[in-house]
Amino acid sequence: MIELNKGIRIVGTELWLDSTKARPLGFISHAHGDHTGKHQQVIATPATWSLCRHRLGTKPQITPLEFRVPYSVDGLTIELLPSGHILGAAQILIQNGQRIVYTGDFKLKQNRTADLAEVPNCDTLIMECTFGKPQYVFPSTDEVERRLIEFIESAFEDQMVPILLAYAMGKSQEVLKFLGDRGYTVCLSKQTMDVVKLYESCGVTFKNYERFENGNLQGKVVLMPPYLARTRMVEKISNRRTAALTGWAMDEEAKNRFGADEAIPMSDHADFEELNEYVDRARPSKIYTVHGGPEFARHLRARGFRAEHLAPGTQLAFW
Ligand SMILES: [Zn+2]
Repeated sequence: MIELNKGIRIVGTELWLDSTKARPLGFISHAHGDHTGKHQQVIATPATWSLCRHRLGTKPQITPLEFRVPYSVDGLTIELLPSGHILGAAQILIQNGQRIVYTGDFKLKQNRTADLAEVPNCDTLIMECTFGKPQYVFPSTDEVERRLIEFIESAFEDQMVPILLAYAMGKSQEVLKFLGDRGYTVCLSKQTMDVVKLYESCGVTFKNYERFENGNLQGKVVLMPPYLARTRMVEKISNRRTAALTGWAMDEEAKNRFGADEAIPMSDHADFEELNEYVDRARPSKIYTVHGGPEFARHLRARGFRAEHLAPGTQLAFW
């Protein structure tokens, strides 16, 4: 039995998974704000804790857990495994007679700044399904990167400043790692720079970046979070061309939604094929989907799996 209430809990245990509400004991899968809470005791990877500790203010009791190190808590044996989403992002394997896996946000394709996801066999799988519809099949990483370079080079040819809109944590470090290592000079907004520094403190190295200043941007790439796209800071760059880097770029109207000239489908989530691949490899007998819509659970049922979508507001679901 699972309780869903601003987080997930396997009833009969005290361990909350990705609760945004403060709990006595909480596992934080990764440092994105919609997965973190001010818990009294936190279980997270050391990198996740480094990325979100400044936001969680009070001093919790922190249990930093490396990947693949079994740990006993509240009568359960748990183990964290990489989820491939952002630096430090972890899935949790809980053993209480059954093998239960909660994926958190995950991606099966290799990211540059996150460990490759593992897919453990399990009895019960609780998985995110953000892109759980068939139209969300992303191009290969090579193809996405080719389109990114093409966008930048064509902006340079036209004497324009390419501005890349990407979430400050995770996506932006992927972009900087790729572009900086290729020799592009990347100008970062403060929000993005702050997270780059946190990544560096965790041992990730970056090249060729500087703080964004409204001076000479000739031949440079600007990288900032999407919410800055419609601000004065951007409007002052009259010869700009913007691209939103997001899995939602698969939608026709994505450019308009992000207020960008172009949208490139770069994502740190699993696409529809990777979601199916995960299930095929993990072979669970019961699946719960979270985030996204109910379509993916419906799709899994059509494929013969026992699957149920946990929507916000679902209090209890029985297995
Ligand atoms: Zn996330």
